[in-house]
Amino acid sequence: MDEKHIAFMRRAIELAQNGVDNDQGGPFGCVIAKDGQIVGEGCNEVTSTNDPTAHAEVVAIRAACRNLESFQLTGCVVYTSCEPCPMCLGAIYWARPRAVFFSATRADAAEAGFDDAFVYDELALPPGARPDLSVDGTIQLEKLDDVVFVGRPVFGQQDATVQLFKIDPDGKYAQKVKVTFGRSSVNTIEVKEGLKVGDKVILSDMSAYDNYDRIKLN
Ligand SMILES: [Zn+2]
Repeated sequence: MDEKHIAFMRRAIELAQNGVDNDQGGPFGCVIAKDGQIVGEGCNEVTSTNDPTAHAEVVAIRAACRNLESFQLTGCVVYTSCEPCPMCLGAIYWARPRAVFFSATRADAAEAGFDDAFVYDELALPPGARPDLSVDGTIQLEKLDDVVFVGRPVFGQQDATVQLFKIDPDGKYAQKVKVTFGRSSVNTIEVKEGLKVGDKVILSDMSAYDNYDRIKLN
């Protein structure tokens, strides 16, 4: 491997070590180089600056952009001591460097107590299904008039088509029907197709009855 790559990566690791020694933050360092020269560098400064976004990569990107007087890192290479977290990866995409090299992996970081797996897990979820976010209140973004809606079922996600059990008028049986949802709020979800006003459906988890089209209610 190119000697320069190794030298820049060593510098990133040195910055990580210095940052810890100087109580600046977590053990992460980052170097940004262009045409074989360092144009920006930094270490994690989260705890010393009370800034949760002051990850090494963000600090280095800011320094490099300041030096280059540009909001893009065109032609630059990012050397970071650890695989970028989702936030830094986003910042790197926005800055558009030419390449990224990292040393430790996110599994190494997790082992050392810096686990960003929960962010990756949340990002992989479809919109409207982020169970770890607690609800402290609701903000009304829009009010929909004239829509049929039901309480949000366990697996009810925005714009999904699901199978729900619709309860017969006599209340003794429930029949599986296909329902297409539209927009959702915290507690309710718009029904676009499959149900009409007055229909009753079962909202609890019915996945145990996936193989049945009709069930008897007790
Ligand atoms: Zn980060």
